[in-house]
Formats: sequence, C-alpha cells, structure tokens
Amino acid sequence: MDYECFCIYGFGVDYPTDWQVMIEPRIRRVKGTVTFRSAEGMEIGVSWGPLKEAKGRFSSADEHAKDTLDRIKKSRGINNFRILEHMSDRIDEHIAVFNHARADLAGGGFFGGGAGKQTEILSMHLHCDRSERYFVLYGRTTAERTYEYADIFNHMRNSFNCHTAELKKRMEY
Ligand SMILES: [Zn+2]
Repeated sequence: MDYECFCIYGFGVDYPTDWQVMIEPRIRRVKGTVTFRSAEGMEIGVSWGPLKEAKGRFSSADEHAKDTLDRIKKSRGINNFRILEHMSDRIDEHIAVFNHARADLAGGGFFGGGAGKQTEILSMHLHCDRSERYFVLYGRTTAERTYEYADIFNHMRNSFNCHTAELKKRMEY
C-alpha cells in the first residue's frame, strides 16, 4: 500500500494514494471533517473541533473516547457492543487513545447492514493544546476485512501530526 500526506490547517495524516478524499464544504481551521474512502467503500475519517469544547465536557482524551463509544453502543441497530482493544500512546507530547470495538448489527438504524453481521469500529482520540483542537480519527469495517483495514488505520494513526511545529520538523528530515 502506498501513502501520501494529506495536510491542511497545520495537521497532517497519510492516506492510501488510490483512495478518494472527501472534504466537507465549509470546513474551518477550528472545525471540520475529511473522509478517505477506498474503491470498495472502506472509510476512515478525521474530525476536529475546538479543544475548549472538548475540555468543557471531558477531562481527558480517554474520557472523550469513552463518550463517543458509549454513543455508538446506544445507537439503534447496534447489539452486543464490546471493546476488544484499548490503549494509549503518544503523538508528539499528547496522549492518543486508541480503541478497537466490535458489535453485532441488528439491521436498520444508522449503521444499517444486514442482521447477523458484525461491524468493527476503530478510533483514535487526541487533545492537542498546541493547536487548541481535538482530533478524532475513526473508521468502520466488516469483520472479514478487519486485518487489512486495521493495517491502514494504524499506518494513518502513526503518521498523524497535529500541530504545525511538528510538521515543519518532519519536513526538515
Ligand atoms: Zn498537537
């Protein structure tokens, strides 16, 4: 898999070169969503927003992640939601919280899909005080494609740069 860097508003992330890049209209430095999509329909998105907003509700990126996952757990069409992997590592000086969850699809609801199928949900939450934004990298796939998808997700997660200083440093290499 070949990657190149998507860079906007002082953050950057690698994406597979042959994936489609969908940028929401009217994104701003402080808030937006960009979605990367493969020809088979696999999607990985990045959302960002004001850190002040996140800090007003959550004391940490971990709490933020828990809230996001709780919402998914309570969504219509989601059954038997369980977290398979939960870990924290560092991106620059921030804590990045990674979660891998699995759920059964009941059919219908936001997540759609046929009953009896499983869905895999990958996410990374990060609070960047340097750029005063939070970032969420997330994606969803079917159980059959988890390995392929997790590889791509992990590459993107590891390539993530959240503030300008770090990007400049990287470009000097
Ligand atoms: Zn940062």
